[in-house]
Amino acid sequence: MNNTEQPIKTERKDPSPGDHSPEAGPDHDADVPYAELVENSLTGIYIDQDGKIVYANGQLAKIYHYGKEEIIGLPSRDLVHPEDRDMTDEMRQKRLRGETLPLDDEARGITKDGDTIWVRRRNTQIDYRGRPAILGNIVETTDRRKAEEELLKANEDMSDLAQTVFHDLKTPLIAVHGFTSRLLRDYVDRLDKKGRKYLESIISSAEQMQALISDLNALSRIGRIIPNFENFPSRDVVKEVVAGIESLPDGRQIRVILSGGLPVIQFDRDRFRQITQNLVFNAVKYMGNTKDPLIEIGYEDKGHSHQFCVRDNGIGIDPGKISKVFEKFRRLKEGQEEEEEGTGLGLYIVRRIVRQAGGKVWAESEKGKGSTFYFSLPKVPKEAQ
Ligand code: ADP
Repeated sequence: MNNTEQPIKTERKDPSPGDHSPEAGPDHDADVPYAELVENSLTGIYIDQDGKIVYANGQLAKIYHYGKEEIIGLPSRDLVHPEDRDMTDEMRQKRLRGETLPLDDEARGITKDGDTIWVRRRNTQIDYRGRPAILGNIVETTDRRKAEEELLKANEDMSDLAQTVFHDLKTPLIAVHGFTSRLLRDYVDRLDKKGRKYLESIISSAEQMQALISDLNALSRIGRIIPNFENFPSRDVVKEVVAGIESLPDGRQIRVILSGGLPVIQFDRDRFRQITQNLVFNAVKYMGNTKDPLIEIGYEDKGHSHQFCVRDNGIGIDPGKISKVFEKFRRLKEGQEEEEEGTGLGLYIVRRIVRQAGGKVWAESEKGKGSTFYFSLPKVPKEAQ
């Protein structure tokens, strides 16, 4: 679609004999009652010549709370909010010089009573009575703007509230976890088997809640915090992530392979760590009973994008359920051991980060044969462009 304007002429073109094209003029649209069309339009329409309103339809007068006769002859500047006047004048001059400008813009207007309104404008340069003029169309957008501002404010309030809740929940949770752990350690000989089991359950629930708070916090940061794009070696971050991964709780050694020459990338370092950490930790968590646990982090240069993958030879995922694992709070039960705790938010966080940067995340898997999670990141992230 063309979104810049070209000067147009108001004079009608007389068709040449036999010209039946839609632009042919009178033949085709002689019966169209243009004056009534303009007068009954829900769009405010006006002609501005030499900085004055020389024509206005009823809707324009209504938008600005003037009587129709009052608005004719008014300096068009008077309809524009004082802070948007210079910008509007500059655009008008450019338009009259025939420069190509964006077709539409949004600016603040002032009504007769001095109230600020928002309007979407489409201005075109025309010839009117033999001299250059501006033909303007205006739709009022005050209600939409107000709703957007209220939504933004509500989101900010929500985000502030979430931050406070995350912070305030953390402290008592650390206390519950800490004191229960001490109780289990220092009073172990005064507890029977059942008592110890209860305390272990409390500790495990506190840990689950800590993980949930941490994931919810990470999720809220994605929308709230502007990413800090820098160039860094992705290999360094991957190495930090896999540093602590040596063996599974039952002692089986995990082989970790970095392949494909992990490159220097332009991205937010913390977010890249979060993606790789979530994928690598999942690979460990869902390793199952595999005899020779293996995790491979690979890379391929795809021209405009970087493509990474995290491959494991763990329990795998039923191919029909792969798309589900990226949904929030979605955990697949079958094949998992009971102690594999999680929040069901890890892959959702990965998807949010990757998509926000303009990339993609997907997986390939077969039940019992391991999974490969791929993610691609544009070499220049969307938000950095
Ligand atoms: P969580 O691990 O906290 O449950 P995730 O969003 O990270 O949440 O993962 C969602 C689900 O996807 C997991 O519960 C698990 O069923 C499945 N899954 C994720 N990664 C793997 C993997 N590497 N191998 C097998 N299943 C996986």
